[in-house]
Amino acid sequence: MNDRIRKVVIVGGGTAGWMTAAMLSRILGSQIDIELVESDDIGVIGVGEATIPPIQKVNAALGLDEREFIRETKASIKLAIKFDGWCVPGEGYFHTFGAPGRSQAFCHFQHFWIRAAKAGNETTIWDYDLNYLCATANKFAKLQVEDPVWEMQYAYHFDAGLYGQYLRRYSERKGVRRTEGLIEDVRLDPEDGQVTALVLKSGDEVKGDFFVDCSGIRGLLIRQALGTDFEDWGHWLPCDRAMAVPSERFETTLPYTRSIAHPGGWQWRIPLQHRNGNGLVYSSEHYSDDEARSVLLSKLESEPLADPVIIPFRTGRTLRQWNRNVVAVGLSSGFLEPLESTSIHLIQTAITRLITYFPHNGIRPKLVDQYNRESRAEFEYIRDFIILHYHLNERDDGFWKRTREMEVPERLTHKIELFRETGTITNEHMDIFLEPSWLQVMLGQGVMPRDYHPLADSLNDQQLEEKLRMTQQTKMQPMDRIPAHDEFLEMFCKAS
Ligand SMILES: Cc1cc2nc3c(=O)[nH]c(=O)nc-3n(C[C@H](O)[C@H](O)[C@H](O)COP(=O)(O)OP(=O)(O)OC[C@H]3O[C@@H](n4cnc5c(N)ncnc54)[C@H](O)[C@@H]3O)c2cc1C
Repeated sequence: MNDRIRKVVIVGGGTAGWMTAAMLSRILGSQIDIELVESDDIGVIGVGEATIPPIQKVNAALGLDEREFIRETKASIKLAIKFDGWCVPGEGYFHTFGAPGRSQAFCHFQHFWIRAAKAGNETTIWDYDLNYLCATANKFAKLQVEDPVWEMQYAYHFDAGLYGQYLRRYSERKGVRRTEGLIEDVRLDPEDGQVTALVLKSGDEVKGDFFVDCSGIRGLLIRQALGTDFEDWGHWLPCDRAMAVPSERFETTLPYTRSIAHPGGWQWRIPLQHRNGNGLVYSSEHYSDDEARSVLLSKLESEPLADPVIIPFRTGRTLRQWNRNVVAVGLSSGFLEPLESTSIHLIQTAITRLITYFPHNGIRPKLVDQYNRESRAEFEYIRDFIILHYHLNERDDGFWKRTREMEVPERLTHKIELFRETGTITNEHMDIFLEPSWLQVMLGQGVMPRDYHPLADSLNDQQLEEKLRMTQQTKMQPMDRIPAHDEFLEMFCKAS
């Protein structure tokens, strides 16, 4: 049997489909033919507008011009997420993409701050984080810095529809063939069960050697045709519905996402150049759709631009994301809460992994196994980080009480308790969220460590205060030179 992969068919033209098409055509386009099938009748999910900093690697790999990208997708800058009311109603905290203080071997900045805080210092850990300082002052600039203390990690908010179209144009220029049509049947090889062709409503068949399932929540190939099992994580992540609605832009475009807790779920607000993206993620046990609609619309703070759309979902993951000659990318591979904007990132890592393990000369079980191990680890680490937000809360509402009292994965309990006892956070291989992220969310959700690293005792009280004061001053230094976020967007896009 000739196993060579010559033709790859991508099923679906949402964010996952066009990101896959763009990356595959850019990297492997000279070696494979790529066809993408999508149905205008079904359309795309239309949400997914906040990202995390590694998205810049996709743009770099594709060779995109950042000014053009921002202009074409009506993007804004994202420096952080602000969580309102997640620990207790009326209080909030930031999870920024920055890091507090200056990094130091063995004993990170937080240990010095913890010692000072215990002695009565009233600054917060965020006072030492440039991302936070800029986010709250509504500022942004692409700083060219020699000292990493001023590095400002950022991501984007963008219009999901425009992003898909932008990548479609890119992919078509690179030779990707787009076929519009509703897939009504999937043909399997009777001997090895591999997918051989898609049968369209028109009666046409689209054949391929390898298929990437980007068909969204339904998982047309991976789950429906191949019957791959799904691991449900609803007992840890109890929201099962979302309601999304765009609204008019505010006068000022904030450089951060807002996540606002409500008694039966939470609301997102994503500021774009031309509008806000809004939505409510909720548990159907705690809010009816009517209640959800009234919560969402009453909290918009700008005029809705369309009717709210309901999106039912299930959290969890497809067990074997690579099964036979199908790899699931995007929502077909599983879904975690949009709380930390990780789905587009998971699309990115799935494509990168597929390219890394691409089966040019045939599908080898070892490759498949490796792919599936990595995707599983990645999903599980993100899952734990998201559970953390729900679990550590001090709210009284039934929904929040339940998530506080639930049993969580043992690895997560260990991580929280280690921090509570010692102020220490370990970075795990394959966890995209590193120490500063865990630190901010654990502190923000009310965990103050009992102890700190002994190196923080190497300074006397006065030296410690001086160190903190100097660090704060250093972080503040570039602030005067940094323009307002809207000013940056205007100057940056105009300059193209
Ligand atoms: C409420 C919510 C909020 C989210 N927010 C974020 C966020 O802020 N950040 C983030 O990173 N991610 C977010 N996500 C996830 C993000 O929306 C998705 O990861 C992303 O849009 C990718 O979707 P997709 O391409 O897999 O699926 P879809 O957009 O659903 O695309 C599926 C494609 O398959 C095609 N298709 C399906 N069936 C057929 C058929 N029978 N025949 C032909 N074509 C077919 C459709 O036409 C469509 O083109 C969010 C998700 C939800 C539910």
